[in-house]
Amino acid sequence: MIILVINAGSSSVKFTCFDMSGEKKVLAGGLIERIGIEGTSMKYTNNKGDVIKAEVAVKDAQEAVKLISENLIDPKHGVLKSLDEVKAIGHRVVHGGEKITDPVLIDDSVKATIRDCFSIAPLHNPPNLTGIEACEAVFPGVPNVGVFDTAFHSTMPPHAFLYGIPYDLYEEHKIRRYGFHGTSHAYVSRQAAALLGSKPEDVKVIVCHLGNGGSISAVDGGKCQDTSMGLTPLEGLIMGTRCGDMDPAIVWNVMNIKKLDTAGIDSFFNKKCGMLGLAGINSSDLRDIEEAHLAGNKQCTQALETYAYRIKKYIGAYMAALGGLDILAFTAGVGENSNTMREMVLKGMAGLGFKLDKDKNDVRSPEARFINASDSRIKIAVIPTDEEQEIAGQTLAIVSKK
Ligand code: AMP
Repeated sequence: MIILVINAGSSSVKFTCFDMSGEKKVLAGGLIERIGIEGTSMKYTNNKGDVIKAEVAVKDAQEAVKLISENLIDPKHGVLKSLDEVKAIGHRVVHGGEKITDPVLIDDSVKATIRDCFSIAPLHNPPNLTGIEACEAVFPGVPNVGVFDTAFHSTMPPHAFLYGIPYDLYEEHKIRRYGFHGTSHAYVSRQAAALLGSKPEDVKVIVCHLGNGGSISAVDGGKCQDTSMGLTPLEGLIMGTRCGDMDPAIVWNVMNIKKLDTAGIDSFFNKKCGMLGLAGINSSDLRDIEEAHLAGNKQCTQALETYAYRIKKYIGAYMAALGGLDILAFTAGVGENSNTMREMVLKGMAGLGFKLDKDKNDVRSPEARFINASDSRIKIAVIPTDEEQEIAGQTLAIVSKK
């Protein structure tokens, strides 16, 4: 069965075309960027090794999806004979609020829920919905499935998702922790159990998803118990450009200092903070910051230590929340690739049961693998995430049921 996975952002559409029959494989994938702005570009690759890069004129998501469809059936580099082969489309949707707790077939009521969450996910939900509507137009009659970033975290108990604010703000306005990156946390926590040779039901896992955005989750028996992102993806770890946890009083203090209104302060804490702000080298990319640290830049060293310390604190907190731990899993751009950061996070944690094997930690590999010493009480692993595959799998499960 052919399943197309779409991740529609504000000015980009990312796509992956899977053949899910038998051994699941990627047939083609790519990205259209700078949609509606000058210099729109498309990258398309297929499983025959063709790589097509082109400057294209694409004014909106519908034109982008049309272009993707044309490439998929292109006589030279296409991978399908006809678009009729596409049996379902899985969409990454960021916010499903409290109503959506599982992947769902998209209908008018699901679209209304996505729209209801525009105010708490203004950067993500509107383009996610536009992507769905574009697919409805370009692939009429093909079922669309929404796979929500928040869904995996819907099992969090109230003591983990409530904030210390008046209860009516939760009851009437749904101000609570939702959590994000759920598709990745679901996939990686399941893979972590598999790496241990156990069932997800029997395992306590902490997943550190450290990418440009970062979040950490505590998973017990396959169910999320807590996660670091909150009402929005701003809370929790220090990220590429987002501040993560801080005293709420900093908000109005910085608004006064920088003379910012609410839109200005929102953008400031999302785009100008995190490692970009702390390291001071005009880059949020951990590779650049690590390079500057190795070259002796003290501010970068301090920024990396602060980033690592925040992760360390969450690991300790989540071990307490779970009442123990079987495996700690690192994933996403930083988690999968930065041996330096993994070492900084785990430094001084032997007393809690973590012993890193330095040689294993230094190996670069695309495989899921253990990096702990043989006498480490708690297993430590690097597990590459694959959100697209997870979305394709969840989409398949929904349309198969139908
Ligand atoms: P993601 O959001 O998961 O795609 O992760 C992207 C981020 O991963 C980049 O911004 C980098 O900061 C980080 N990253 C990727 N490769 C490395 C590496 N080798 N060392 C350190 N950080 C890396």
